[in-house]
Amino acid sequence: MNKFSGKCLCGEITYYASGSPVVVAQCHCEECRRLSGTGHTVGAMFVAEAVTVTGILSEYSYSSDKGSKVTKAFCANCGSPIYGMNTRLPDHLTLSLGTMDEASGLDVEVVIFERDRPHWDRLGEEVASFAEQPDWIPED
Ligand SMILES: [Zn+2]
Ligand SMILES: [Zn+2]
Repeated sequence: MNKFSGKCLCGEITYYASGSPVVVAQCHCEECRRLSGTGHTVGAMFVAEAVTVTGILSEYSYSSDKGSKVTKAFCANCGSPIYGMNTRLPDHLTLSLGTMDEASGLDVEVVIFERDRPHWDRLGEEVASFAEQPDWIPED
């Protein structure tokens, strides 16, 4: 069986997920943009009982435009977004793919709220691209 592990930026939160995600989705909705601080989130939805989280989480809840309650869970220490839950699918949670150690075999299967994608959120095919942080600094 597949086993996935992950952790937050500071390492206080660790998690394990077993089995295969129901779906891996990239979302450009306004909430996901504000949550991530960038143009989208990428999340892997698992059955909640397949996921074990260790550490102290902080939560924030809001109502979706369809009336369900959405809860986002963060590391209480460093603020990394760990997972989201939606009362529309109460037995599931969606792990932030960027917190996973190795998302072996996982790829984005669907893009949602594409209409809300900011124009600057795109792959760097048409701009300079570096494998690591370059020595380059912006000129003024
Ligand atoms: Zn942390
Ligand atoms: Zn979203």
